Amino acid sequence: MNKILIILEVETETPIHIGTVSTSIISDVHLNRNIDGKIVIPGTSIAGAFRGRATRFFRSFLKESEKECDALTVDNASKLCRCTVCQLFGDINPDVKVNKEETDKLKYTGYTSKLLFHDVEVIEEKKSFIRDGIGIDRHTKTADKYTSAKFDFEVLPVGTKLVIHLEGNNLTDDEEVLMAALIAELKEKRIFIGGKSSRGLGQVALIDVKVKRMPSCTENEIDQFINLLESDDWFNSGTVLIEHWYENRLDEAREKLQNSKEKYFNISGKLVFKDGFLTKDNKQWLFSGFDAIPLIVEKEGTKLTYIQGSTIRGVMRFQAERILRTMLNYFNKEQSETEKLIDKLFGSTNEGSRLKISDAIEISKVCMYEQDHVAIDRFTGGASSGKKFDEVVVYKPQYQLNISIEDYKDWEIGLIILCIRDINDGLITFGAGGSKGYGFAELEDVSLKTIGNIGESTNTNSGVYRAREVNHKKAKDYYKDEVFKNTVDALNKVTKEGYYE
Ligand SMILES: [Zn+2]
Repeated sequence: MNKILIILEVETETPIHIGTVSTSIISDVHLNRNIDGKIVIPGTSIAGAFRGRATRFFRSFLKESEKECDALTVDNASKLCRCTVCQLFGDINPDVKVNKEETDKLKYTGYTSKLLFHDVEVIEEKKSFIRDGIGIDRHTKTADKYTSAKFDFEVLPVGTKLVIHLEGNNLTDDEEVLMAALIAELKEKRIFIGGKSSRGLGQVALIDVKVKRMPSCTENEIDQFINLLESDDWFNSGTVLIEHWYENRLDEAREKLQNSKEKYFNISGKLVFKDGFLTKDNKQWLFSGFDAIPLIVEKEGTKLTYIQGSTIRGVMRFQAERILRTMLNYFNKEQSETEKLIDKLFGSTNEGSRLKISDAIEISKVCMYEQDHVAIDRFTGGASSGKKFDEVVVYKPQYQLNISIEDYKDWEIGLIILCIRDINDGLITFGAGGSKGYGFAELEDVSLKTIGNIGESTNTNSGVYRAREVNHKKAKDYYKDEVFKNTVDALNKVTKEGYYE
C-alpha cells in the first residue's frame, strides 16, 4: 500500500467554532469535548472544510473527459458521483448499490475515501469563551426579538495552535497535485474551519507543512519499516520525510492551472478610527460595573479589542441596501430588485455565503477611556434622575479588515467597493454613539487581490493561481484603479438593465 501522511500546523487567527447543540445553561451551542473534557475538533469537520473548498475549486483542474461534482449540480443524486473530489473524500451517496460489472470496470466503489482526517485534539488548551450572536432586524437596526433574537456559542480563541493529521491512501500523482493545491488554498485563507465562517470565524494561518510516506519493505528501508510496525505510530515513528513535497507538487499544480477560470477577490487593510469607538460586550458589561465596554479577545496573554465580522457585515449590508435603492430609483426601476441583489451577495441566510468578512482584531496599542454621559431631560434641561450611564470608549483604534468573495460577479465587487468608499466618507459608522462622533473610520494600507479577469495583467501568485495585487496607501487612491472603474460600471449595468444569471 502506498500511504502518505500530511501534517499541517495551523494557528487560529479568528475564533473557531465547531459545536454541538447543548442542554447546558452556559451557552446554547458549545465545543465538542472528549471523555477527558479536552476540546476535540472532529476529523469530519476538517474534512468537510477541505471538501467544501475542493468541490468548487477542483473545477479549475477538470480535463475535458471529467465532470463536475454532482453536489454542485444535482439536487438529489441517486447515483455514485465518481468525480475526483468524491474519489478523494468519499462519495456523496455511499449507499447507492453498484453492480459488480460496473465496479470492476471503474475499480472504484462509493464506500471508500482515499483521505482519512484524524480528530484534532487541542493540546495547549486556552480558555474557550462564549460569544453572542444577535439577530439584527435590518429595518429597525435593533436586536430582532422575533427571529432567534439572541444565541450564545462557545468558541476556541485566537492564537490556538492546532496540528491536523491526514492520511492519503494510494493517491495518484494527479491526486497528490490536487492535495498540494488544496493546502495552498488553506495557506491563502480560503479554507475556513468550523461553522459561522461568513460571520468572521474559522480563519487560520498555515505555519508548516510536512509530508511523510510509509517506508517500503526493501533492503535500505527495512529498519524503518520494522520500526513502524512495532510502534504502530504512523505519524512519528518509522516514516520517511518527503523533502520539498509541498513546493514540488505546488509547482506542478501551477503548471496545470495556466488557464484557470477561478474567480476570487480580497480586500484587506487597516480600519483606522478617527476618534472613539464604542461597542458593547453583552457578557462583560454585566460584571464590569460599566454600562458599555468593548469586546475583548485574548491573544498570547494580551487583551485586544475587536469588531465582530458579523458586525462589519451588518454595517455593509445596510449601506449596500441604501446604495442599491438610490441607484434603482435613479434608473426608475422596481425597488424589489434590492432584496434580490442583496441576497445574491450577502446570502439569504448567514451560513454558506460566498462573502466572508473576518473578525477585525486590533493591531494598534489602544488606550481606552471611561466616559460619563448624563442623559439630559429635554424638558427641564437638567440631568434626568437615574439616567446617568458610563461607557468605556476605545480611542483611535486600528483594526485589520479582511473581506473576500469567491466566484464573484463584477457588480458584487463594485458594491463592496462603494460601501468602503462610504465608510471612508463617513456616511456609515461602526458601533454606537455616531451622534457623539464615535465610529468614524477610514481604510488605509489597502490591498486588493483579484483572481479572474477584472484587472489587466497578473503580477503575483495566490496559492496555485495567478493573481493581480494592487496596494494603495489610502483607500481614496483606488478610486482611480481600473478594478474600481470596471466593477462600478458593472454595478451600474445590473441596476439599469436588471440582473440575469
Ligand atoms: Zn462528486
